[in-house]
Amino acid sequence: MDRTVRNAEIRTCAGCRQKEGRDALLRLVVSGDPPRVVPDVRGCAPGRGVSVHPRRRCVQQMLRGNRVQRAFRRGVISPSVDNIVTEALNQYCRRIEQLLLAARRNRRIAVARDAVDKAIGGHSVELIIEAVDASERHQPSSNAIARRGIRSVVFGSEESYGRLFGRGAVGVLAILDRGIAESIVDAIERCAKLAEDS
Ligand SMILES: [Zn+2]
Repeated sequence: MDRTVRNAEIRTCAGCRQKEGRDALLRLVVSGDPPRVVPDVRGCAPGRGVSVHPRRRCVQQMLRGNRVQRAFRRGVISPSVDNIVTEALNQYCRRIEQLLLAARRNRRIAVARDAVDKAIGGHSVELIIEAVDASERHQPSSNAIARRGIRSVVFGSEESYGRLFGRGAVGVLAILDRGIAESIVDAIERCAKLAEDS
């Protein structure tokens, strides 16, 4: 099927019952033995899927009564909201890591402050990602970022980026690819929504 058609597909959130574009929703599938409901962030696991807004509130509504059993048309172990939220957050984090590694393979990322400062000066930077715990000496010049109107987000830890790129603590990254930047922002926004206590 043509990708643009697929992206325009409309689904109903199994929690609040509102209609929504498929891509804005979190897909859930049944997996394992005994069968349990798990998130499918990539949206490509086989079998019947159920869609829900990536929001705690909607996941909670979906788990009421035996809606899950009805939606999947089979007996499944009904997970807790925390199970689903935690697993979805893990999957989003892995997805972000994969996007960062893809950016590195394509040489569309600057890792750590010196490289980021250089990228801001020379290339068209699409996104700055600053670690939540970035120490001051690891941060790029916020003036330069603001002056050039570069989008920036705060996510992840110095240690996790250091591990991902096989070096010491990394406080900041610059993404040079627009598509990858948009996918990362989308995943980070979903994490934030899911983590919210609503
Ligand atoms: Zn909903």
